[in-house]
Amino acid sequence: MTSALLPTALVGSLPKPAWLARPEVLWAPWELDGAELVEGKHDALRAAVHEQERRGIDIVSDGEQTRQHFVTTFIEHLDGVDFENRETVRIRNRYDASVPTVVGAVSRRQPVFVQDAAFLRAQTDRPIKWALPGPMTMIDTLSDRHYRSREKLAWEFAAILNQEARELEAAGVDIIQFDEPAFNVFFDEMKDWGVAALERAAEGLRAETVVHICYGYGIKANNDWKATLGSEWRQYEESFPLLQRSTIDAVSLESHHSHVPIDLIELIRGKKVMLGAIDVSTETIETPEEVAETLRRALQFVDADKLIPSTNCGMAPLPRRVALEKMSALSAGAALVRDEVSAPALV
Ligand SMILES: [Zn+2]
Repeated sequence: MTSALLPTALVGSLPKPAWLARPEVLWAPWELDGAELVEGKHDALRAAVHEQERRGIDIVSDGEQTRQHFVTTFIEHLDGVDFENRETVRIRNRYDASVPTVVGAVSRRQPVFVQDAAFLRAQTDRPIKWALPGPMTMIDTLSDRHYRSREKLAWEFAAILNQEARELEAAGVDIIQFDEPAFNVFFDEMKDWGVAALERAAEGLRAETVVHICYGYGIKANNDWKATLGSEWRQYEESFPLLQRSTIDAVSLESHHSHVPIDLIELIRGKKVMLGAIDVSTETIETPEEVAETLRRALQFVDADKLIPSTNCGMAPLPRRVALEKMSALSAGAALVRDEVSAPALV
């Protein structure tokens, strides 16, 4: 995807400008509408690209500037889901949220993000990455009155995601990422059909594929949950062996400041590793040396030509200045380590 060693990439979201959406709020409502909203989203996306490039991010993404939420914005565009008819459900066994209801067969009327991705493609010559929700995380954000089977609904979503992913690829997206935080929670379902549904979503793609599995944004419900996980977070131990044998090319995981034992990366040996070297739950900016230290520890378990320095998760809830400075810290830290590892033969 890129010839440079240790190419940097963000996991996903960036804070939006205050004129586009209320800052430091998840699912913040838009401040514009109609044609102004379309133009505002494009302007925000341009700014996100500009900042990534000037701050040394090698694989550019949209910073989720054109969507409100990483799961619901996709679901909003599907038939079969009723957004008026909401029910309260427990998300990832952690917090209650009012969610839309599946009332009929789900289908994708038209492409959801393809135009936005083509716009991103036109803004940069660097490789671009686009994130979609994973099937299992999608079903966990809905109430289902139609299929009455999480597995059935997941397979339907996987087919829809695959249509979207193929069109994103045709629009010039180099890397397609599926966000599956649900893999850190529902282990039995993940093993029974979750990884298989993810592979179905990624089927036939020439673009590289990534699965992002995290412990969530730095919001209170997630932080409270993390406090119950003990001193060693071994959740990845459940998914990594399956992913190592899967068709997915890369795994995005949390590392810096998390309690994830670094040697768990050994379980995905052979895959590319998007390693979280930036903590998104604190406003403290990492130093380049701290980033470098996290990367050096990971390099014991992943080959240098497979390491992609990254963030632990999205940065949407952070103040804008903090997110931008964290980007700079990420690329400065990666540069330190890049100088230390000898370039392997490029394939
Ligand atoms: Zn995440």
